[in-house]
Order: sequence, then structure tokens, then C-alpha cells
Amino acid sequence: MSGDTKEQPNIFYTKVAPLLTAECLLNEGKVKSLYRMANEPDNVYIHFHDKVTAGNGRRVDFPEGKGKTCCLISALLFEMLESRGIRTHYIDCPSLDTLLCKKLEIVPVEVIVRNITAGSIVRQTTLEEGSILNPPLVEYFLKDDAKDDPLLTPDRVALMGINPEPMRDAALKINNHFQILFAQLGIDIVDFKLEFGYDVHGNLCLGDELSPDNMRLWKKGTKEKFDKDLFRKGEGDIVEAYKYILQELRRFV
Ligand code: C5P
Repeated sequence: MSGDTKEQPNIFYTKVAPLLTAECLLNEGKVKSLYRMANEPDNVYIHFHDKVTAGNGRRVDFPEGKGKTCCLISALLFEMLESRGIRTHYIDCPSLDTLLCKKLEIVPVEVIVRNITAGSIVRQTTLEEGSILNPPLVEYFLKDDAKDDPLLTPDRVALMGINPEPMRDAALKINNHFQILFAQLGIDIVDFKLEFGYDVHGNLCLGDELSPDNMRLWKKGTKEKFDKDLFRKGEGDIVEAYKYILQELRRFV
């Protein structure tokens, strides 16, 4: 967003989303589709579906309102990070379920930041769930569903021709901003996944989405969940939880 609308994210839109037709479809992901318009070759439109998957696509559901909620949370978080000097692919939120972003050449590495142990680190180590990680842990996973996204060492990332350090630096800065923001909401940001890519000018940018699909959010000091684990574990309504997060974020961003 630009100019005087900056103060009121997601209320006034500066652009109008074009009709996203099948001819413009660039890529169909698990819960999002990517479109490119002939007259905007350096940009992409990311459309968020009312869809959730788990277990690498083995479990699927289509909860109403989920796409818009994830899109609007992403827009708010990208705007917050941009305002703090983090370079991202975000340009605008031209409709409730669509982001306008810079086209990136995606780095095939998923960067995960952990502040509290949960999920794969508990399954794969001797650590108990809920242990505080201070300093936070930054991990790298291969972005390849066919290989089940294995954990990578920094040396393996380097052997792949990718310097992990700039991603690690950005991830830790993003974590600081997230921790400050979510603390205001009374939420612990347990962990989250980031994806990076290079824009047409060769700048490293934060990409993908920023929503409770890609982070663990627990009510402060408890393990009460407001994230995709509710679906993974069949423990509750994700849309209701995500909408609560959106409503709370709107009070502070
Ligand atoms: O599964 P794991 O515990 O490693 O996930 C850590 C964090 O990264 C969780 O918040 C999870 O939702 C997110 N993640 C993701 N996409 C993946 C793997 C993990 O968003 N492919």
C-alpha cells in the first residue's frame, strides 16, 4: 500500500485485482494459485483458496473464509515487516483473497525459526515439547514435496550453491519483530516457516505467505493453539482461530 493508506492496512485498497483467468495461471500450489498478467511481467497475483491440507497433501478440507483470512493476515504482517525495513515481495492487497507481489526466483530452501520446541524437533530429538529456545533456532529444510522436505545442514545448503547467512540474518530480524508484535496480542510465536527468493533486481526478498498455516501460535504461557495444528490434530476450527488472530492483529498493526 502507498501514501496515506499506509496507516490503515487492508481497509483502503490502492489497486483492483484483475480477473484471474486460467490463461494467466502460472502455478497451482496446495492452497494458493499464482497468476501472472501479460502487462505486469515482473509481478504475480497470489490467490488464497478456502482450502487446508496436512501430511504433504494427504488430508484436505475446504473451510469457508479460510483463504481471505490467511490473505489478510499475510498482508498485515508483510506491511508491518516492510515498515520495519525488511525487504519482502509484497506490493498490495487488491482484493480480500489476493495479494499482488513481486515475482521472485524462489530459493528452494524453507527457513524455520523456533522459539519454543514443538512439531518435528520434538519428534526427531530428545527435546520435550514446550522447551524455550533462547537464542532461537534457525533451521533449513529442502523445499521439495517429492522428497518430503528433509532437514538440511548449513553446509548442505552451501553445497547447493546457496549462502544461508543472508536468509538466517533476515529470519532472526523477522523473528524479533514477530515476537514483539505477538507479545502485544498475548500470543507466543512458537515457530514459523519462511521462504525467500530474488526479485528481478537480484535483491533477496521474503516471499510466500505469513499466516497461521505456517506458524505455531500459542496463547501466552499455555499450549492453547491458534494455528494449523488445530487441523493437523483435529482439535478445533481453524477459521475461527485464524479470524481471532486477524482481529487481534488489526488492533496493533
Ligand atoms: O513441522 P515442523 O515442526 O518442522 O514445522 C515448524 C513450523 O514450520 C510450523 O509452524 C509449521 O506450520 C511450519 N511449516 C510450514 N511448511 C512446511 C513445514 C513446516 O509452514 N512445509
